[in-house]
Amino acid sequence: MDKLTIRDADVAGKRVFVRVDFNVPLADGRVTDDSRIRAAIPTILYLVQAGAKVILASHLGRPNGKVSDSLRLRPVGQRLTELLRRNVPVTGDALGLGTEDALKRMRPGEILLLENLRFHAEEEANDPAFAATLASYADIFVNDAFGTAHRAHASTVGIAKILPAYAGLLMERELAMLSKLLEAPERPFAAILGGAKVSDKLKVIDHLITKVDLLVLGGGMANTFLLAQGKAIGKSLAEPDRVQDAQRILAKAERNKVRVVLPIDVIVAKEVTRGTEYKTLQAEKIPASWHIVDLGKASQDLMVDALSDVKTVFWNGPLGVFEIPSFAHGTNAVARLLADRAEHGATVVIGGGDSVASITQQGLADKMTHISTGGGASLEFLEGRDLPGVSVLLDRPKEPKVRASKASASKPKATTPVKPAAPVRAASTKASATKAPAKSTATKPAATKPAATKPAATKPAATKPAATKAAVKATKPAATTAPAKTAATKAPAKAVAKAAKPNAKPAATKPAAKAVAAGSRARTEKRS
Ligand code: ADP
Ligand code: MG
Repeated sequence: MDKLTIRDADVAGKRVFVRVDFNVPLADGRVTDDSRIRAAIPTILYLVQAGAKVILASHLGRPNGKVSDSLRLRPVGQRLTELLRRNVPVTGDALGLGTEDALKRMRPGEILLLENLRFHAEEEANDPAFAATLASYADIFVNDAFGTAHRAHASTVGIAKILPAYAGLLMERELAMLSKLLEAPERPFAAILGGAKVSDKLKVIDHLITKVDLLVLGGGMANTFLLAQGKAIGKSLAEPDRVQDAQRILAKAERNKVRVVLPIDVIVAKEVTRGTEYKTLQAEKIPASWHIVDLGKASQDLMVDALSDVKTVFWNGPLGVFEIPSFAHGTNAVARLLADRAEHGATVVIGGGDSVASITQQGLADKMTHISTGGGASLEFLEGRDLPGVSVLLDRPKEPKVRASKASASKPKATTPVKPAAPVRAASTKASATKAPAKSTATKPAATKPAATKPAATKPAATKPAATKAAVKATKPAATTAPAKTAATKAPAKAVAKAAKPNAKPAATKPAAKAVAAGSRARTEKRS
């Protein structure tokens, strides 16, 4: 990776401000899916072990610049305390004397979680004074919040312009996995895109179509492509003003010799609700009063067959209204196939809150190569765009190749004695964080901007102290009792809808019941 990571920083005894993405779903004051909290643990443990004072900061939901008691980070602090088996106090506010006092009292190895950053409108406005205050808390900035890296906020970009800014281990892994898709995918490489709104996905399709061998389209957004092919789709969700874009993409695919697989038969329903009347029809002429809600069996077979030999896959967006079990068959069939491909060595990367929810619901998340913690961020990255929260991190200085070996001959000691706590998975990723292709060259940049850094190449620290391992292990058992999973299997109706949104806004801001009634309404959900 061309960005410096915490492995390159000298953090011992330093105050380290870590932007994490703890935007997790809550219900009744408890975290219902802790994937994002777990995903940050390798970075937190690494810093703790290295003797840093770890100041964690995150947003939660959309309080729009006002204090909202239902969006306090206390439940997150509690969950983190359980996972780490270390006390993680939460401040009453991200600013103020109480927080400053708590910061002053911190000792190396201690952790403090700041209250929801978005209680201050200045956070999303990337207000310079707010960023400066946050920066005053620390000596070093670490961004591990991949899910927010596409947003230029005070805690992602503003602060990174003031403090020396490094990538956390989750950020490193996300970037490594997604870069691999764009730069060196093993072929055949397929993209599977579904979900509700085609307008959300056009840019990523446009870019991926220059990279993939196969494009599989399903879900609500495929309906606009069916329209583009002159088919009738009845009352199905579609965006008629995007038909031309769809036509252009189909033509581009043909020019690029990319095979496009669209549904050939579909499940249509009278209403997009549970218990409604439904049947299978050819995806040709859907009568005016029906909604397309899932893939038919022939489409499933066609897609599974087309994907049977892929070596690399990116999947975003469910292929039907998966929140309703009768309409989850297409999504589930493809998820099973991908789990199987991953077990046979293919690289399977999944991004998107609902897509991740669907595979988590099926208990397949652990089988996939990488589950991205960022829906919107992963799409923007795959659109080929620079993410502001990433661009602003310190660049890894390019070293002339000839000199590299010399430099390593006189290698200074790595500044931190331990390897990161690798075995905890980023959300649920297969390879450990240390497997990420990024070079673990330990460098020691000065506490200024890139120009001033002069790293000397060293070997990565080779030891993994027992303490780290034990701490990581300690966080594991909870995996099997994650509240989201339990809820999903036990209480089919409400709980599934809730559990189905691990990467989405907390339940408080989006009632679970709504999620079930997907499709019939115009979906205006923004990328989180
Ligand atoms: P992700 O969160 O994985 O990026 P999206 O948010 O784009 O996915 O889309 C997920 C939503 O798409 C789900 O709520 C699902 O119900 C909806 N959806 C999928 N297929 C259809 C369809 N045929 N009609 C209406 N909605 C659909
Ligand atoms: Mg979504």
